[in-house]
Amino acid sequence: MVHPDIERILLDEDTIRARVKELAGRLSSDYAGKKPVMIGILKGSIPFMADLMRSMGEDHTVDFMCLSSYSGAASTGVVRMILDLRESIQDRDVLVVEDIIDTGLTLGYLRQNLLTRQPRSLELVTLLDKPDCRKVTISPKYFGFKIPNEFVVGYGLDYNEAYRHLPYIGVLKGSAVRGS
Ligand code: 5GP
Repeated sequence: MVHPDIERILLDEDTIRARVKELAGRLSSDYAGKKPVMIGILKGSIPFMADLMRSMGEDHTVDFMCLSSYSGAASTGVVRMILDLRESIQDRDVLVVEDIIDTGLTLGYLRQNLLTRQPRSLELVTLLDKPDCRKVTISPKYFGFKIPNEFVVGYGLDYNEAYRHLPYIGVLKGSAVRGS
């Protein structure tokens, strides 16, 4: 059953599952024997990260960071770090796992921050990419889907902390945005 606040489904469960499996296959072959550390960016990456981990055939470790730049459906442009990594990433092959890249401000900030910690390599893995919205040049090596400039929710993505549990990715009805 589709949630009543969803106007239309952009990516259904089967489509997401198949693409995540494909991405995990690519990562497994590119990182064979390297034991990369996957850094999940909380909270939006949780379902993507969990599905990716379980489909990765190769050994890896995980860590998490929490950043914030959004309030409701608008980016504030100011990125704040709320939770930092537990482990050092020096000389590690790092994969930053994000739910979506929009302006690129969050990952631009994060990339600079992580590079100062001297990883052996650093690549971005994002489920969704909205390339039309960039303010900072970021081109993720690994992405699931390029999508148009619409505010989407589900599969980890929220609107004011709601809708993260939806198994699909959908566009919110205007009434749900105004009504909050
Ligand atoms: P950026 O810094 O690239 O503009 O935005 C990255 C963060 O903004 C994402 O991790 C996500 O939390 C939030 N974001 C950007 N676009 C959307 C969207 O369409 N829907 C939702 N729910 N969050 C978004």
